[in-house]
Amino acid sequence: MQCPRCLNTDEEYFYRGSRGWYCRRCIPFGRVMLEEDGEPAALSLPAEGSEEYTLSYPLTKQQKEISEQCAQLIETTDVLLHCVCGAGKTELVIASIAGMLEKGKKVCFAIPRRQVVLELRERLAGYFPNAKVVAVCGGHTEVTDGDLIVATTHQLYRYFGAFDLLILDEPDAFPFRGNPVLHGIAETCRRGHMIALSATPDQELLKRVRNGTMACLKLNQRPHGHPLPVPRIRIVPSVFMFIPLLLWLRSHSGRPCMVFVPSVAKAERLGILLGLLSDCAVCTGRSENRDELIAAFRQGKYNVLVCTTVMERGMTIPGVQVCVFEADSRIFDEASLVQMAGRAGRTLSHPDGDVLFLCRHRSGKAEQCAVSLQEANACAA
Ligand SMILES: [Zn+2]
Repeated sequence: MQCPRCLNTDEEYFYRGSRGWYCRRCIPFGRVMLEEDGEPAALSLPAEGSEEYTLSYPLTKQQKEISEQCAQLIETTDVLLHCVCGAGKTELVIASIAGMLEKGKKVCFAIPRRQVVLELRERLAGYFPNAKVVAVCGGHTEVTDGDLIVATTHQLYRYFGAFDLLILDEPDAFPFRGNPVLHGIAETCRRGHMIALSATPDQELLKRVRNGTMACLKLNQRPHGHPLPVPRIRIVPSVFMFIPLLLWLRSHSGRPCMVFVPSVAKAERLGILLGLLSDCAVCTGRSENRDELIAAFRQGKYNVLVCTTVMERGMTIPGVQVCVFEADSRIFDEASLVQMAGRAGRTLSHPDGDVLFLCRHRSGKAEQCAVSLQEANACAA
């Protein structure tokens, strides 16, 4: 027996109700009967002309090549777009989306985190002015069909067998990462191929590339052509770590600085200390006013933003400098470190930036992060 929606085969999750067998592993998304042949979700066809697009900036030669290759490859296989942080990965799939819409095919752009959905909807609606681009996420579920659907991975359960192309942005991010139910649903919502977009693909994706069930296109350069900032690693005993942090902040006074810490408690403590010396905001998974904090930081109302890994992805602040406090903490893995370092030097106006990792001990993960960024730079050169 296999659940037609989440692909579960573990018998422990199968229960027999009055109407027959059903799966309890994906029960938060409603009951699905095992014997039923699921009907594909009924969606409208994309409107004629919805495929016309204009980008806000011209693609670089490299981006153009990858974008064209990707649009061809998805005809026959799944594709991993392995691009460094800030490489403009969304823009790389616009040609693929347009190609599918032109053929009257259904496309979905799926993202683990809700916050990014709304932002991306705006961006895609700007690129495709004739298309009805809908955002489907918690709080936005009245309209679930459009020419182009942007959804959280949690909402894909609505679209059984519906998509000819599924674009999965950052599948290595929480809460999609390591969640078998969401992975199963992402498989069963599509009848065509998928594109996975990531700067830090997990082992599962890399294994698919190795065994040939997925093609891989790599982009090691940001559009502005500058190398990625490589972190400097400093080893300092825990009790003294505040001192190099202060010196670092002073050396970047006048510039926006992000300080990543491993826990909410540490963020709050550090926020109080730094708040005595500068305009400092604390942003964690517990901050209810996260959007406002980010907006204020962006406008320069705060010099320092102390934050946890909730802020490791999706943020572009021109000119930001990055410090990771206790970068050797077990909370951070290499992907996290790459993403945090990837906040620096993203824009054409500020293509460089300083990244400092403060560690209590030598850390293989921190060193590996620096090596992989150096390697990406070497490949790009
Ligand atoms: Zn299930």
